[in-house]
Order: sequence, then structure tokens, then C-alpha cells
Amino acid sequence: MDLLLLDSWLKERGEPGYRALQVWEWAARGVPGYDAMTNLPRALRESLDAAVPFSTLAVETQRESSDGTIKVLFRTHDGHPVEAVLMTYRDGRRSLCLSSQSGCPLTCTFCATGQMAFGRNLTAFEILDQALHFRRLGDVNHAVFMGMGEPMLNLDEVLRAARRLPDVGITHRRTTISTVGWLPGLKKFVDEVDEPIRLALSLHAPTDELRSAIMPVNERYPLDAVLAECRKHAARVNRRVFVEYVMLADVNDSVEHARALGELLGPDDFKVNLIPYNPTGMYDGSSRDRIAAFRDALSRARVPVTVRLTRGRDIEAACGQLAAAPRERVGANAR
Ligand code: SAH
Repeated sequence: MDLLLLDSWLKERGEPGYRALQVWEWAARGVPGYDAMTNLPRALRESLDAAVPFSTLAVETQRESSDGTIKVLFRTHDGHPVEAVLMTYRDGRRSLCLSSQSGCPLTCTFCATGQMAFGRNLTAFEILDQALHFRRLGDVNHAVFMGMGEPMLNLDEVLRAARRLPDVGITHRRTTISTVGWLPGLKKFVDEVDEPIRLALSLHAPTDELRSAIMPVNERYPLDAVLAECRKHAARVNRRVFVEYVMLADVNDSVEHARALGELLGPDDFKVNLIPYNPTGMYDGSSRDRIAAFRDALSRARVPVTVRLTRGRDIEAACGQLAAAPRERVGANAR
């Protein structure tokens, strides 16, 4: 729901100032529409329905994985595709993976999103409406900005959305913003954000040379500068920065790479999350044994490390697979 439009429409009609908050509180609690907002006069609910679309996004398809992961393809009013994912875990975690842009202008070689056309930045309300859609299906308690797009290229809108997530049930401590290390946005985030929002860095290589080969953005913002900002954030909020590291067979997955990574990061400021590669064409994923050996080498360097559970691969909902091409894919699966 476009809360700016809501605000101005209510003001124009001379509605009391508390109306906008009433509407938002209902929406954040996951009601299905204006009609359920019983502390609003019925006539107002009806006019609202016609004047302010309940969601800025239309749902195009919703698919459920055998592991319970749900992926939704939305469309913006001007036709751009946006995907978001809900992952549920046995421990009660219900985690949203939100998109900050339609597509992504960066061209990381292992990521499917970078291979589709870039659309545009999403507004804060288009980001929030992804979360509200899933909130209407049930409680949610974690969010990661790890869907389509680079959040630091759209930081203001991302933060505007993140700041409202606690009303939806997701505290700042349970909110993570992930970046390739887009330095202007990252600096602003580190300097200006006071909320204890978690930062994650998509690192994927221990040297500039290798990182530039698989992530062109590294040519622009090399490792030293990016890691320095991350350390600043870790010190400032007294929380480790998460490092994402996708395991590509014979590219970045040797024990030597792990040692170099351990040296680069040190034991104090980071926690590494090893991500099994989800097939997108270019690479082969590392074997379980290679991943285990890499993890053990990092542990010996006293860097905290975990291996990420793969979710939703069968519906192209896993990390790096969001590419908004369901019509073709649905057709292909049906055949
Ligand atoms: N642009 C931001 C937000 C997207 S996060 C960022 O890159 O951090 C999506 C995560 O999935 C990133 O860590 C990305 O590197 C990772 N990823 C991309 N392609 C992948 C793939 N094929 N398999 C596993 N992880 C992948």
C-alpha cells in the first residue's frame, strides 16, 4: 500500500490525522483488505478500496517447494517483475527474502538475477508489500534483503521499508541487509544507520584478483575499502558482519582459499556463511567434502563459520535463482 498516497487522500477528504495509522496497523497485522478494518466507518472503507490500491503489487504466480518454501512473482503497476520468498524452519523461524530492485544492474557471474534485464529501483511500499503479502499467510519473524537487486543502490527506500518491518513482526535485530559492497551506499549505511540492522557482505573470494573475475563490481570498489567499512559497522553496533561465500568447484573452494580468507577476515569481526552453489549455468557446485574441508580450515583460523541450508531449489527460489521467468519455466515443467 502506498502510504504517501493514503496520507494525502485521507487529508484531502478531511479525515482525522489518526486514520492513516489505523489503516497501517491493520495492514501490518495481515488483514486481507480494507473491509476488515472495523474501526473505520464502512463508507470510508469502501471509498478507500477504490482510491488507494490495497497493494502496490499484483500477484502473478505463487509456487511452493517440497520443503515448504514459497516463492511469489509479483508485478509492479508499470509491469516490472519482482520475486520474494518465504522460508519456514522447524525452529519456528519464518524468514522473508525481499527484493530491493526489479532485476539487478550488477553482473555477478554466478547469479541469475544479473542475467535478466534490469528494471528499476523499488519504492519502500513495493518492498513492504512483498512482506505484507506473506504476513497475510501467517506470522513472519525474520527478513533478509537477499532477493533481487542490490540494496545499497536503493538504500533510502530499503531503509524506509526496513524501519516499518517491526510493525509486521520483524525486529531490526532479525533484519539483514546484504550487499556486494557497493561503497557509496555501504558508507552511508555504516555512518547513518543507528538501528541494530544486521549487515551481510557477499564476498565469494579472498583476493581482489579472483573477486574481480567473478564479480565485476570489485573492479570499482576493491576489497580493502569494503572490508574497512564492514569492520567499522561491526565495531559500531558490536555485532559481527555476515560474510556470504558461494562455493564454486575449482574456482574459490580450495583449502588455500580458506586459509587466505581466514587471514583476510580475522577472528573478531565476521561470521562466514558458506553457500552451496545453486545451478544457474556457469559453474559447478563444490562437493560436500570440499565444503566441509573449507569449513574446517576456516574454523582452524578461528573464524566462525556455518554452511547454509539450501531451500526452494526445486522452484528456483534458492539464492541466486530469482530471475522472474515463471511462464517459460512452468511450461517446461509441465511438459
Ligand atoms: N545484491 C545483494 C543482495 C542479493 S543477496 C548481494 O549480492 O549481497 C543474494 C545472495 O545469493 C548473494 O550472497 C549472492 O552472492 C548469492 N548468490 C548469487 N548467486 C548464487 C548461486 N547461484 N548460488 C548460491 N548463492 C548465490
